[in-house]
Amino acid sequence: MIHEILPVGPLRCNCSIIGDESTREAMLIDPGDNIDKLLTILAKHNLQVKQIVVTHAHIDHVGGAMKLRAATGAPILLNQNDYDLLKMLDVQATWIGVPDPGKVEIDRSVTTGETVRAGQHTAQVLHTPGHTEGSICLYFAPEKKLIAGDTLFAGSIGRTDLPGGNTQKIMRSLHDTVLTLPDDTVVVPGHGQLTTIGEERATKPFLIKTQN
Ligand SMILES: [Zn+2]
Repeated sequence: MIHEILPVGPLRCNCSIIGDESTREAMLIDPGDNIDKLLTILAKHNLQVKQIVVTHAHIDHVGGAMKLRAATGAPILLNQNDYDLLKMLDVQATWIGVPDPGKVEIDRSVTTGETVRAGQHTAQVLHTPGHTEGSICLYFAPEKKLIAGDTLFAGSIGRTDLPGGNTQKIMRSLHDTVLTLPDDTVVVPGHGQLTTIGEERATKPFLIKTQN
């Protein structure tokens, strides 16, 4: 598996390029910004983007999606529960002081039970609401790798104080879905350094399941 992680934009969103070495097919996850740089990396590996997957509709994760779609022809996938949030990109732009990227069109909604793929590398889509209603994680089981979006970070969890955020839901997503994955699963969070499921489960007392 080819896996390049490029922190993009002023909030340094971890954008992932996942590629298949034999078919040269790729998926690109969270193209928030710096599309020219991403296209250079794709060209370096001789990769063709087949899917653009967005973990949630925050501007730092989705801002460059239309530019990337125009350059590659690949469809943009996002969970439909974030479509309302996607309509607020102009408002989100003012939150962090970046230009309004304009309207982003989604080609298809993806949710739990579906898969996304780059050649032979397939990821299960896990709907993990909480940071936003439509937040998803992507789990590459054979490679033991989780693209976690802003649901789980090294040492913390996603904020829930923005529109669409819900603390109870993110805790449920973490307990019932994310933390049920094997300990040696490498977690690629939406921002910051990599971690593992085992490390986060072991060191996070606030993630211990409480009653109700
Ligand atoms: Zn976010």
